[in-house]
Amino acid sequence: MSKRIAVYPGSFDPITYGHLDIIERGLDVFDEIVIAVARNSEKKSLFPTEERIRHIKETIGDNPRVSVDTFDGLLVDYVVSKGAKVILRGLRAVSDFEYEFQIAQMNHNLKNEIETLFMMTSVPYGYLSSSIVKEVASLHGSVESCVPPVVLQALIEKFGAPGKA
Ligand code: ADP
Repeated sequence: MSKRIAVYPGSFDPITYGHLDIIERGLDVFDEIVIAVARNSEKKSLFPTEERIRHIKETIGDNPRVSVDTFDGLLVDYVVSKGAKVILRGLRAVSDFEYEFQIAQMNHNLKNEIETLFMMTSVPYGYLSSSIVKEVASLHGSVESCVPPVVLQALIEKFGAPGKA
């Protein structure tokens, strides 16, 4: 039987416990997950791609079922090149829905053999996004409960320790 491979694309700027929860739960459904860090993201990033990858790799550790890669160009082409049939995405609030719906429809139009599968966020992470983590860290709030240690350290190096202006 062929392996069930999912591509989990995103900016991961930086990776949070919300992303990790989707990866962990995704591994119950798929044999392999490819975490695909977007290079051509229009969003201005805080961490360069290579650093985002390092954060992810250090956090995931050695797991033969998870790999980390970058992609640019059309996501569906990348997904096909990895031998995958599924794009894995997380959904938080209703506000995620419209954007995700649009992209999923377009990707399906481009390659109808590729499906997008959504996993609902786990309750503790429903409010959590990379953007809010960056905002709070930049204002010297604590984000210890939101991001893995390597990211926490990187945020402290950028913005200083929590509570210190
Ligand atoms: P993008 O810039 O493509 O939205 P992100 O890194 O922000 O990339 O997110 C990647 C994926 O992870 C998206 O599907 C997003 O909805 C999902 N995600 C992010 N944070 C959470 C969370 N707290 N719970 C569930 N899914 C999440």
